[in-house]
Amino acid sequence: MTAVATDHLIKPHGGVLVDRTGDRPDDVETLEVVTLTSRELSDLDMLASGALSPLEGFMGRTDYERVVEEMHLANGLPWALPVCLAVDAAPDGDRVALADDDGRLYAVLEVDEVYSYDKDREATQCFRTTDEEHPGVARLYAQKPLYLAGKVTVFERQTPDFPELAMDPAETRAAFAERGWKRVVGFQTRNPIHRAHEYLTKTALETVDGLLIHPLVGETKSDDVPAKTRVECYGVLVDGYYPADRVLVSAFPAAMRYAGPREAIWHAICRKNYGCSHFIVGRDHAGVGMYYGTYDAQLIFDEFEAHELDIEPMFFEHSFWCRACGSMASSKTCPHSSDQHVFLSGTKVREMLENGELPPVEFSRPEVAEVLIDAYRTA
Ligand SMILES: [Zn+2]
Repeated sequence: MTAVATDHLIKPHGGVLVDRTGDRPDDVETLEVVTLTSRELSDLDMLASGALSPLEGFMGRTDYERVVEEMHLANGLPWALPVCLAVDAAPDGDRVALADDDGRLYAVLEVDEVYSYDKDREATQCFRTTDEEHPGVARLYAQKPLYLAGKVTVFERQTPDFPELAMDPAETRAAFAERGWKRVVGFQTRNPIHRAHEYLTKTALETVDGLLIHPLVGETKSDDVPAKTRVECYGVLVDGYYPADRVLVSAFPAAMRYAGPREAIWHAICRKNYGCSHFIVGRDHAGVGMYYGTYDAQLIFDEFEAHELDIEPMFFEHSFWCRACGSMASSKTCPHSSDQHVFLSGTKVREMLENGELPPVEFSRPEVAEVLIDAYRTA
């Protein structure tokens, strides 16, 4: 770990960066084993690294209830989504071992409480729907019936899918400090970056010291572009079009919940732990299908007191190349009609890429399009 002071960066949520890593206990093989889903494993690793500070384990009932009802932890800090571990039955002992479905052990949990929860209520409050077509709701309804709460100590970190991009919050903070950044904007993405996203990240970067491109590489829906392809896209884009000393690309190990507005808050709080003072929130952030209004993920920030979150959201409109402006623009900055705008639907872009055609350069950087064409060709 570097010795560069990081005190000038934004404080972690709750003031202290949590570290729940620790030694493997001698008796771990004798403990009852709880098997985690891939979403729970992602959460466990983020608990270990402090990405979910101030949480030190899976949520107990008082935190859970207040988060579901009021988007705050019991101690009053903002928090938007449950971080819970679902089980079939209460364990016998006061400690359990946490494993993946291959039986590999990662952590010990000190059993604090086991409680029942109402799936319909959690779905309605957190996802704004009980429709089982919604991937987050489907996951919730498929869960085991009780929540097991308690502090975790993680002795085995998961093998990251992209080791070259794996950085814990302490490491991104050190990297920001080393570069002399104080104000850093975080960009969440689960898609390849086209010109529109390049434009908004650069517009944000004009006003701060550094940009963290923080793609989500945890579990996503099967029809999202695979993480490996996306990571390759970020590489060619950053190499060709961003100044190396102003941008850092690192992986965000969370699983996608598709909770739209609440997930935007949750994503912002996590990025604060990684050291970001600002966070980009586009239209329909973390949404899926037609479950959320276009601006819901931006409007939800108004439900918190000014400075309560500390991290500053930066809201963006859809952007496009405007032939009349001769530049990237959005409805906020361009007065021209849409026939001047280079717009392609997602379906159209995909069709072009599948046919090996490059979209217009005003829409997509050719280097990025070529990565996608290759990916479709080998798929
Ligand atoms: Zn224009």
